[in-house]
Amino acid sequence: MPNFIEEIIEDDLASGRVQSVVTRFPPEPNGYLHIGHAKSICLNLGLAKKYGGVCNLRFDDTNPVKEDDEFVNSIVDDVKWLGWNGKVLYGSDYFDVMYECAVGLIRDGKAYVDDITPEQLKLERGTLTEPGIDSKHRNRPIEESLALFEKMKAGEVAEGALVLRAKIDMKSPNINMRDPIIYRVVHAVHHRQGDKWKIYPMYDFAHPIEDAVEGITHSICTLEFEDHRPLYDWVLDNCKLPSRPHQYEFARLNIERTIMSKRYLKKLVDDGVVDGWDDPRMPTIAGLRRRGYTPEALRDFCERIGVAKANSEVEAGQLESCIRDYLNETAPRVMAVLDPLKLVIVNRPDDYFEVVDLDNHPQRPEMGKRNYALGKTLYIDRADFSLDPPPKYHRLKPDGVVRLKGGYIVRYKGCDVDAAGVPQTVYAEIVEGTLGDNMGIKCKGVIQWVNAAHCVDIDARRYDYLLLPVTDGVTDFNERINMNSRIDFKAKAEEFVTLPSVDAFQFMRIGYFTRDSKDKKVFHETVSLKDSFNK
Ligand code: ATP
Ligand code: MG
Repeated sequence: MPNFIEEIIEDDLASGRVQSVVTRFPPEPNGYLHIGHAKSICLNLGLAKKYGGVCNLRFDDTNPVKEDDEFVNSIVDDVKWLGWNGKVLYGSDYFDVMYECAVGLIRDGKAYVDDITPEQLKLERGTLTEPGIDSKHRNRPIEESLALFEKMKAGEVAEGALVLRAKIDMKSPNINMRDPIIYRVVHAVHHRQGDKWKIYPMYDFAHPIEDAVEGITHSICTLEFEDHRPLYDWVLDNCKLPSRPHQYEFARLNIERTIMSKRYLKKLVDDGVVDGWDDPRMPTIAGLRRRGYTPEALRDFCERIGVAKANSEVEAGQLESCIRDYLNETAPRVMAVLDPLKLVIVNRPDDYFEVVDLDNHPQRPEMGKRNYALGKTLYIDRADFSLDPPPKYHRLKPDGVVRLKGGYIVRYKGCDVDAAGVPQTVYAEIVEGTLGDNMGIKCKGVIQWVNAAHCVDIDARRYDYLLLPVTDGVTDFNERINMNSRIDFKAKAEEFVTLPSVDAFQFMRIGYFTRDSKDKKVFHETVSLKDSFNK
């Protein structure tokens, strides 16, 4: 079933209105991209691919104050990672065209220079129920506006002293059409243009021009721009431009317990709540990558949630299940213990060494097997042993048995505890003949282990959402920060996890973990085996 945008495109192609589809992804370089942007990229890129067209990456860099090359570079990197490949374009490269359009509008009597203050503008603009009132400069002679606009451009006007306004209709029911400001004076250094420009176009004026210059056929944006569409069309209808794009709106992606705004994400970085934009807890593309998400999983997610016309919130579990499904297929299984507890095999000599075969993937024999070795001293997870077990505890306990994954059944023999009664070393014996055979013994539990002589120390990090759920009407995200969103473990894992050709593993019975791209000792839990571990 085509989504509503695909239906529009198919109609346009069939009727000949459009020859070849051109879409764009237009980020503002004022932060790192988040999963909401991934949705927009997948949509625009997907449409271009599906209909044999192109998708432009164009920086909407018309506001010199908030932009930064660090953001430009990270955005290019993230968009490429998601599968885009093309030329990087910049809205600021069209400043000359925009300026010409503005002069043309003044000449046509469709724009005028005003000296209105923000306060006065607010008063004159009216409300949803009351029309606005005309500025006293609305009928300023064309020549005078042209001369003032030149002064603005030449840097002879202080910031805020003058603005250029489109002359549309102060009585329009759509407030965006009440003589909107289209140019303002800004004395700042632009990241690409330097100090060449002293005037900067407003988004609503710049965007349609950028689209038209690039021959965009379908300019897709989020629903909050629906009310701006008449202005988008007005600019295109009143300026001389090489093509006539059209704007279409879709619902932005919202995910429960997920911050979806660069501004707020920047605050988390600036306040030190997270370790940078690529902290694995961040819903940024950089964070998700570091956490172990793959482009395939993100594209799959965007595909699964579809394109809607009404805003809604997606369950966080939906994103997780995409990467879980992907890793379930692809990640080799290994054994790791997050909270190591020593287990000594009493009925074997000190130099005991016995190779066992372990499947790399239980459902995919083509992924092969690996050798691992049992030894005299092993580590098991503290959670898999209890001196005082609850009913139906199937792991190791006094007088109990448990199977070591891929190895023998072992029977409990004893335990050393410290002064506080906390187990330090557990002693057990191998039940002879139980390698691959139960020998009639009732043994319900299978636990993972590592060989003390053949394991590596790793830092395993498990994560929870950065935001607590909305409770008692507390919706402000500042009051919902989850202080326990990262838990660190000094863990031990099979040496196999150091294999450089693989970076994502299933730590059996725990979750999927991905090796950190910077620190090889660190493994991030990409996603738990089932739902979040602390839910
Ligand atoms: P933010 O508030 O996070 O900065 P933005 O919309 O201001 O978001 P832009 O860089 O202007 O960020 O957005 C680039 C493109 O990504 C736009 O076309 C925008 O509509 C789209 N986009 C941004 N957030 C979402 C979202 N949550 N879901 C879908 N598309 C989004
Ligand atoms: Mg924006």
